[in-house]
Amino acid sequence: MTEAALRGHAELRIPSRPGVMFAAPTLVAHYVDVHSYGPPADFIEAVRGYDPGWMVEPSPWVPDHVDRLAFS
Ligand SMILES: [Zn+2]
Repeated sequence: MTEAALRGHAELRIPSRPGVMFAAPTLVAHYVDVHSYGPPADFIEAVRGYDPGWMVEPSPWVPDHVDRLAFS
């Protein structure tokens, strides 16, 4: 993760079923780990099924001018 993302200056986009894209602050992992935040079940399912292949595809939920970072 980049330094900006670690500071929370970025957002995650997690594709779900067709027509659904979740957005969350990059600090969502911190909220889960430290503050016991429980994301919605649909969000967790989308994260578990994440396919990084979508990163190279144009998306109406990701502006063309932003940097796209892949996570593993
Ligand atoms: Zn905190």
